[in-house]
Amino acid sequence: MYGLTYPRKRVGLLVKRQRYRCRECSQTFWERLDYTIDEKRNCTKRLLSYIEKQSLKRTFVSISEDVGLNEKTIRNIFRDYIKRLEETLRFETPKWLGIDEIHIIKPRCVLTNIEERTLLDVLPNRNKETVVRYLSRLPNTARIAYVTMDMWQPHKDAVKAVLPKAIIIVDKFHVVRMANQALETIRKQLREGLSPKVRRGLMHDRFILLKRHKELTEMDKITLDLWT
Ligand SMILES: [Zn+2]
Repeated sequence: MYGLTYPRKRVGLLVKRQRYRCRECSQTFWERLDYTIDEKRNCTKRLLSYIEKQSLKRTFVSISEDVGLNEKTIRNIFRDYIKRLEETLRFETPKWLGIDEIHIIKPRCVLTNIEERTLLDVLPNRNKETVVRYLSRLPNTARIAYVTMDMWQPHKDAVKAVLPKAIIIVDKFHVVRMANQALETIRKQLREGLSPKVRRGLMHDRFILLKRHKELTEMDKITLDLWT
């Protein structure tokens, strides 16, 4: 049996327990230890709750080295804990929902509350089915008036399927990024056809093209004119 003392010293526990036999059917059973011991994980309840809390912020391997339990057991304890948390924790459905992707090993769908600037959830991937399943399970979806998103079609399809009344808005960030990419492509194309001398005259041109108009110096404005 595994245990842990304070401060964090791992211990092994030898527990003597009684074995009984039923007089009626002669089946045997052990004395129950459920007040302090978790029989499923073969460790004390105190250690179990310590692992649960640690598993949210540390690697499973480091916890395993710390307490002596197998890394796989740590992972299972984490899974059980998450399941329990998911059953009890409820996030409020936002009025303005944000849908985007986040790259954690692979692209995943991330949902946010735009008004509160908080994270709502992260889904295992960004497929239409995954997002549809998530949105259909969300309570009070009638509350969602606006959905801000990237330009990933499955996100749009999912929202149209589950939240037909919500207004879809493409996040400005993605529009600006694509506009910048388009500008850069054209700039490179134009540059190709220029002589080295003209090119030298257009040094730092990229930054001029990216600047706000009011921030341009007189010299910048001349360069910008040359380009446009
Ligand atoms: Zn019996």
